[in-house]
Amino acid sequence: RRALGSYSNPSIAFAAPRAFSSSATTIRATLFPGDGIGPEIAESVKQVFREADVPIEWEEHYVGDQIDPRTQSFLTWESLESVRRNGVGLKGPMATPIGKGHRSLNLTLRKELNLYANVRPCYSLPGYKTRYDDVNLITIRENTEGEYSGLEHQVVRGVVESLKIITRQASLRVAEYAFHYAKTHGRERVSAIHKANIMQKTDGLFLKCCREVAEKYPEIKYEEVVIDNCCMMLVKNPALFDVLVMPNLYGDIISDLCAGLIGGLGLTPSCNIGEGGIALAEAVHGSAPDIAGKNLANPTALLLSSVTMLRHLELHDKANRIQDAILNTIAEGKYRTADLGGSSSTSDFTRAICDHL
Ligand code: NAD
Repeated sequence: RRALGSYSNPSIAFAAPRAFSSSATTIRATLFPGDGIGPEIAESVKQVFREADVPIEWEEHYVGDQIDPRTQSFLTWESLESVRRNGVGLKGPMATPIGKGHRSLNLTLRKELNLYANVRPCYSLPGYKTRYDDVNLITIRENTEGEYSGLEHQVVRGVVESLKIITRQASLRVAEYAFHYAKTHGRERVSAIHKANIMQKTDGLFLKCCREVAEKYPEIKYEEVVIDNCCMMLVKNPALFDVLVMPNLYGDIISDLCAGLIGGLGLTPSCNIGEGGIALAEAVHGSAPDIAGKNLANPTALLLSSVTMLRHLELHDKANRIQDAILNTIAEGKYRTADLGGSSSTSDFTRAICDHL
């Protein structure tokens, strides 16, 4: 992998091992609008990209209405092929029924595309007041195994079993990504988050791998923090942390906690990094069925995710322009969505961002 250099906000830049042709007039990227608020906030991204003259041509894919035998899920084989071919994409949230039904669409995407690291930056937004004004964290979540391996069954009536899988290969891979990220983004410390006191074999192996990788990066401070203590420390003083790396389930939970520190799920972006340089950006939040279809959703998280995609493509001027427009709109305070205490609709807020471009 190679570093991408420095940006106005280094916390949302990603290593980009795949070469994209900068001479091409347009770059093709896959777009999954997704479920619930997904299509509304995807529309915001499309509008902002159009008005900022971003040379992206979207290949839009929707979740199918029947199971595709080649993916064993409602995700079509063609949509996965589109991401593989383009190497870059943006994904809206996808709903998963609780406790029943089909294989999770998100898990399928991560597994099929081998999206091994989910990078979730979380930083205080200038001008938007919360309890803290100095949050600047990167959660790096192992994205393919752990409790999310999808291996669950009923042993006998009234007893079910769920398998947590941790492998040396996946743990080394995500630890390497975290340390490399820290080194190439001017970060000082990596904290491995775990529960190895109880999960001795699984989290024990995860920690062992993190230690092995830490030895290769003597310039980066390394520490291990038990997850329950980590939650307390994050709520009390988030400035104690820098880059956090952890198994799948913990990353899912901790990154929502981090979102709460800066104003909520409407604000936090992420990017899934895969083998061969694939980058599939998505917001941390889900499909928000409670506000879907009402023009109320905050598109910031998906917009900032799309900015990470632009950085991956080395379109830094466009990325900076869009990021500045989003942050300036929020800082100005005239147009904010309801989750940030405002009364703007998704479309009015998007219009305001475009006016700040
Ligand atoms: P959620 O993130 O959809 O919503 C949690 C709360 O945050 C809700 O009150 C919602 O209104 C609010 N919220 C979320 N995004 C917002 C936005 N952009 N603007 C304003 N408010 C926002 O979590 P949930 O309700 O637990 O999950 C709903 C569905 O989404 C479930 O089917 C779940 O499986 C799925 N999900 C998908 C992903 C993904 O696609 N990566 C991630 C999480 C949850």
